Amino acid sequence: MTLDASLPNCNLCNKRMYHERSISYQCGFALCQACDGKYDDQELKEKLNIPQKTNHYYSTEYGTSYPYNQCFYFANESDLMDHFQFLYKCTANEIEFSDDYKLGLMFTEHDGTIDKQFCDNHNASLIGTICRESVQEILNGFYENSDRDVSNLYE
Ligand SMILES: [Zn+2]
Repeated sequence: MTLDASLPNCNLCNKRMYHERSISYQCGFALCQACDGKYDDQELKEKLNIPQKTNHYYSTEYGTSYPYNQCFYFANESDLMDHFQFLYKCTANEIEFSDDYKLGLMFTEHDGTIDKQFCDNHNASLIGTICRESVQEILNGFYENSDRDVSNLYE
């Protein structure tokens, strides 16, 4: 066994971590095994006193079809990340560590607020015809049938 002095302490309880494999990452924070999974993303940021971005909404072309002239809209970062995870059927880490994400290609952050229901209606209208199925059915079907590959974000 090797000890690596460069490993971070747990960002939550400050416990010293000696092995890469005992570290979990959530929202980019390093967590020890005991702290991993204790809180959801929102709660974690509150615990760490990270300022909440309440006055931003997000748009992305990822998931739309050619000619890519339309965007999906999301009321907050957590909905945006859900979209990416469902679309690529992967973890938040796989998204956050990807080249596309790190290069800032995957979404645009906008000032202001936008209603979640508006976003759902808008997003569903890009995919299907709302009069036949409910907004939620359209969105669920879209994600279930998505065959996008997360490896495409790494290149
Ligand atoms: Zn900890």
